[in-house]
Amino acid sequence: MQEMKQTQNADQADEILVAEDICKYFKAGKKQTVKAVDHVNIRMKRGETLGLVGESGCGKTTCGRTLMRLYDPTSGKIYFEGRDISKLKGKELLSFKKDVQIIFQDPYASLDPRMTIGEIISEGMDVHLKNLSAKEKEARVMELLAKVGLNAEYANRFAHELSGGQRQRVGIARALAVEPKFIVCDEPISALDVSIQAQVVNLLMKLQREMGLTYLFISHDLSMVKHISDRVGVMYLGSMAELADSEDLYGKPMHPYTQALISAIPEADADTENTKDRIKLEGEVPSPLNPPSGCKFRTRCRFATERCAQEAPKLRELRPNHFVACHLYDDNGKLQGELKAE
Ligand code: SF4
Repeated sequence: MQEMKQTQNADQADEILVAEDICKYFKAGKKQTVKAVDHVNIRMKRGETLGLVGESGCGKTTCGRTLMRLYDPTSGKIYFEGRDISKLKGKELLSFKKDVQIIFQDPYASLDPRMTIGEIISEGMDVHLKNLSAKEKEARVMELLAKVGLNAEYANRFAHELSGGQRQRVGIARALAVEPKFIVCDEPISALDVSIQAQVVNLLMKLQREMGLTYLFISHDLSMVKHISDRVGVMYLGSMAELADSEDLYGKPMHPYTQALISAIPEADADTENTKDRIKLEGEVPSPLNPPSGCKFRTRCRFATERCAQEAPKLRELRPNHFVACHLYDDNGKLQGELKAE
């Protein structure tokens, strides 16, 4: 059994973040529990971008926030640069939080309307870089504005005076202000005009090259995730359905859910778009309060069998660095005869 061999395969010296079997559950009323993240394993190399995709409510945002300890994990371990940060508290937690930052989805809601842009960007420095003088902070704000493509004069403006794209550039500058190593980009472009999205993604990629940053890029936009990510994880109802190198995942998706998501990506070429085979996903995502037994995807899967209702599939490495949670395949990644599609 090659279950979760990514543990052995990854070059551990290069790893910046390792999440082992993490769960994040929320209480819903007196008796019910939402398993927003349910036994997820993630290993990330320094300098890479891992895309996390899935429909709304699949747990990708909760997963990102748990990895950076905005939420405490219900169980499981999170290691950052080899150190267990799952239960850090007080000063130690604060010191970890300097190394991990977040860029939020809605750049307007995440910027305080009463503060100038300069104050917003320097706020984190007041907490994490206390030894900097006022002059040094001011110089750093100017440097950060330039890095994200904004003029120095923006330091004295307010968020409402800026366009959506400019506000997201401020959000990026704010995240960079405390010299982080790891950034969770939580749907950073979904609130922006399509014409601006590529600019912001290209800026993120440029900054990553210049500063050696590691990104967890959360999005439901599969084509943008493909553009920016080295590897991609596909989540469904709190579990990882598939995780692979970006090219392999988009070129040869194995999990029926991934296959359906990828088949729905619009093609730039009109002829290809018109002739493309689409796999229609039947039904809605089930309620996380009452997920299906066995494989959580089985109520929408065209290959589902009796076994799928009884046994949750484990995430196994079925091709090199390609992990899939599905009973369709044997341990060598070959389709099992009795489970082939009709
Ligand atoms: Fe479909 Fe079964 Fe695979 Fe789940 S385990 S994706 S239901 S074939």
